[in-house]
Amino acid sequence: MNARTNQESPYQGRLLIDGQWCDAADGARLERRSPAHDQLVAVYAQAGVQDAQRAVAAARRAFDQGPWPQMKGAERARILRQVADAILVRKQALARMESLENGKPLAQSLAEIEGAADLWQYAASLARTLHGDSYNTLGQATLGVVLREPIGVVGIITPWNFPFLIVSQKLPFALAAGCTCVVKPAEVTSGTTLMLGEILLEAGVPAGAVNMLVGEGSVVGEALVTHPDVDMLSFTGSTAVGKQALAQSAATLKKVALELGGKNPQIIFADCDWEAAVDAVVYGVFFNAGQCCNSGSRILVQDAIAEKFSAAVVERSRHVRVGDPFAEGTQVGAITTHKQLASILAHIEGARRDGAQLALGGARMNRPGLYIEPTVLTGVTRDMAIAKQEVFGPVLSVLRFGTLAEAIELANSTLYGLSAAVWSRDFDTCLTAARRIRAGTVWVNTFLEGHAELPFGGYRESGIGRELGRLATEDYTETKTLHMHLGARADWYLAQA
Ligand code: NAD
Repeated sequence: MNARTNQESPYQGRLLIDGQWCDAADGARLERRSPAHDQLVAVYAQAGVQDAQRAVAAARRAFDQGPWPQMKGAERARILRQVADAILVRKQALARMESLENGKPLAQSLAEIEGAADLWQYAASLARTLHGDSYNTLGQATLGVVLREPIGVVGIITPWNFPFLIVSQKLPFALAAGCTCVVKPAEVTSGTTLMLGEILLEAGVPAGAVNMLVGEGSVVGEALVTHPDVDMLSFTGSTAVGKQALAQSAATLKKVALELGGKNPQIIFADCDWEAAVDAVVYGVFFNAGQCCNSGSRILVQDAIAEKFSAAVVERSRHVRVGDPFAEGTQVGAITTHKQLASILAHIEGARRDGAQLALGGARMNRPGLYIEPTVLTGVTRDMAIAKQEVFGPVLSVLRFGTLAEAIELANSTLYGLSAAVWSRDFDTCLTAARRIRAGTVWVNTFLEGHAELPFGGYRESGIGRELGRLATEDYTETKTLHMHLGARADWYLAQA
């Protein structure tokens, strides 16, 4: 037993191909060490291109020959509900794995796993209600029926910040529609996805309907992106890799859904509920160590309150509890990878060079593990890189504005458009801003809340398409028109004669 991680021995993960757990064709393996303790926590079979080919072939067979796509919606729903229940039964083990690999506090992993189980439940309801359309208004001789068919084999590629939640924003909805899938989690956080694979097999998902590959994005991810037998790609990750995947997918003209980065503004008006806004700003940027696509990484504060509000944010941020993910009361855990740690520190350094002032933090913490101090940068102006680029770390940029029009203009001044928040007690201010901000989600007097019923996704370089919501399964379908003729058909040849 490892005293620090409380783990018996490293998790052993293999590839899931055609209903079987197997090693990579070339025997390659990869190891994962915990970012909070630097302990070996998992050893995986590492897939290569040959394994990706086998996984796609299995998904193709499972789609073309069934039985998953041909099953009744009610039967698919039953299995998805069973998965949801099994996730809850194993939530402690799943949460532990998530915290070991990602570095986030255990309580937050637990909440993530429970939230994900709810998505499986919700997708089950959509499996039963997915339907097409009919047209009985086209005249006596015509009946039009619009079918919704599963699109086919879906390649699912996920990042490391919310590994279990994000795979659950995609996989159950694709399965509900009747698709078969090949899932590639981020190589540093594959554990909970493979544990989900075990649950899927036990719940009765047929062999080949879900395949899982642990491996490098540039190898296995790219193999899925470019494979002609993958009909759709559902990708969550960085904007840079998303753009590359979109370009590479063009050769096979597959459908592509992208959930990418963000530089999400919280706009703080002078008449806001002060306490609630301060708390949401601190939560919004430090939750998950800022490694959130939805991170509220910049706040736009109205001039009249800017000094006092920034000071209040700095004061509360000073007391955020950063530490071991497994320690009681930890609010912010470790940064997930060495690469991300270096990237965050480089962003902070760049901002200081550009003239931003360090009001709090700014450095790696002097303790074992990958930790960065909660950081607040004031005096940030719109021309600085830190005002526009995603940091993906516990770093808040404070900008100022005068009028509502300026706030909206500033909010819309980056290439991203994932989410935003408006804080004001004035109804007109809230709704005017909310309607004019170009983002997929605008929170009004709250931040970072989500529900399975509400669609999620980005404008502009934050992505293409929407997940969740009642239309989530439709995204994984093709539309087929049945144009049916009743009675005698007018003869074209004779009519021309
Ligand atoms: P990333 O783009 O580096 O990796 C994401 C996934 O893509 C990983 O599984 C990776 O292995 C794979 N990948 C890497 N190169 C690839 C390639 N050439 N072809 C195919 N796949 C490849 O992103 P990350 O660092 O894991 O995650 C952080 C990013 O994800 C941030 O930019 C964040 O904003 C974004 N994100 C967005 C959302 C959203 O819903 N909009 C949610 C979470 C994270």
